[in-house]
Amino acid sequence: MRLEGKVAIVTGGGSGFGEGIVAKMAAEGARVVVMDRDGAAAGRVAAVAGPAARAITGDVSQAAGFEAARDLALAAFGGLDILVNNAGVGHVPTPLDALDEATFDRIATVNMRSLYHGARVIVPHFKAQKSGAILNVASTGGVSPRPNLTWYNASKGWVITATRAMAVELAPFGIRVNAINPVAGDTPLLATFMGADTPEMRAKFLSTIPLGRFSTPADMGNAAAFLCSDEASMITGVAMEVDGGRCI
Ligand code: ADP
Repeated sequence: MRLEGKVAIVTGGGSGFGEGIVAKMAAEGARVVVMDRDGAAAGRVAAVAGPAARAITGDVSQAAGFEAARDLALAAFGGLDILVNNAGVGHVPTPLDALDEATFDRIATVNMRSLYHGARVIVPHFKAQKSGAILNVASTGGVSPRPNLTWYNASKGWVITATRAMAVELAPFGIRVNAINPVAGDTPLLATFMGADTPEMRAKFLSTIPLGRFSTPADMGNAAAFLCSDEASMITGVAMEVDGGRCI
């Protein structure tokens, strides 16, 4: 029960890695606000997690989504200790000079602007209580980019730099900020990144992962629960690969 007594917001908690993070945090004793623009998905995940979880429909590209999640955490659970910026979007593999502007804007808005809004809304609360943990879900693509995902990879590199910058600025307030870098999981986003979900594409993808399997939502939950717990109280500003060795 390494998160006993903690209250967390997990964005994009209705699916994939976010779902695994919600499940593990709840299992470790946290009470969790599951925020997702897909309210039905958030509700399903919160119901599975049990009475220690609440769902809220919210868009991370707007401050209002974070305000509503913060208010729910305070009203339902009487506190807020952890923010997991997990919601993100990808795009089908596309040459960097061919990605349309609307897709670029969506990547920038959901993957980057979300951290700004989350910080503006939640950090004042963490500063006031002189404690808090923020976990940003970046990507191996932000460390070791591969072709045709350039603008997605760049957005995740931005998340890693933002993590380090936030960590150094917020350390005096007792706030830790870390990131995890997942390799592709067998989640809905995988099909997007592969372009086509075929056995050949899966085999090609897997051949780049030394441990020989896709990452799972549970892998992300395990890493997230540790980094957001007091066991990681000396760890800030890291971007930890959870990638089966893909970035070696
Ligand atoms: P991953 O493999 O990274 O977990 P998924 O597509 O399975 O990717 O999950 C991403 C989650 O983030 C989905 O539940 C999706 O609804 C959510 N999400 C995407 N964009 C937003 C947004 N703007 N605001 C809130 N949640 C979002």
